Amino acid sequence: MTGYIVGTISERIAQIQVSLPASVRLIAITKQVPVEAMREAYAAGIRDFGESKVQEAEIKQKELADLPDIVWHLIGHLQMNKAQKALQCFQWIHSVDSLKLALRLDRLAPLLIQKPQICLQVKLLPDPNKYGWTPSELLADLAKLDQCQYLQIKGLMTIPPMGLSAAEVVELFEQNRQLANKIRAQNWQRLQMQELSMGMSGDFSLAIQSGATMIRLGRILFGDRQP
Ligand SMILES: *Cc1c(COP(=O)(O)O)cnc(C)c1O
Repeated sequence: MTGYIVGTISERIAQIQVSLPASVRLIAITKQVPVEAMREAYAAGIRDFGESKVQEAEIKQKELADLPDIVWHLIGHLQMNKAQKALQCFQWIHSVDSLKLALRLDRLAPLLIQKPQICLQVKLLPDPNKYGWTPSELLADLAKLDQCQYLQIKGLMTIPPMGLSAAEVVELFEQNRQLANKIRAQNWQRLQMQELSMGMSGDFSLAIQSGATMIRLGRILFGDRQP
């Protein structure tokens, strides 16, 4: 893979952090990563951790309870029946991928101390393996999303399908940015659109060039995951 860097977890984090613009928030994606490695990342300055499963996060949160300033991000598909648990475990949910889920989260959110921060997941190319709104579906749902009183709808998240060229990936990131700009220009009452959650180990430099504000890095920090 291109862009792979060597060294310990702390060295990799340091190397990436120095290259990031101040506007970009690095989220360490720790699915299948043991808590010892997460502690090393924490010691190297990481405070934002992302998990794809609610249950895995819950277990790790107990083991890392002595590190109270971690900000937890959910990045994987959330099932309806886990919405309540997800709100208890995560300050950010990047993977809100349907109106139904957004409305469910909004109904559950008044009980929380802090308003949940979410991104809307957009599917810019047809991809049977991915969840999310197509741009036209999302535009059609905005009026209802804007009614959500308790969710802080912060921006858009996207994951390009596998196997695209760099130029094709850039095209998708640009489309995502333009979609966020278009929504922002509509001046909704509640919808905010300042965040673009896009970019993973293989494509984060491209994402940053296209305006990413949150990048989600796993393998480049922690090495390959077990299949
Ligand atoms: C696993 C995952 C990542 C991290 O991917 P890497 O290639 O390991 O950097 C980022 N975002 C989402 C949604 C993921 O599922």
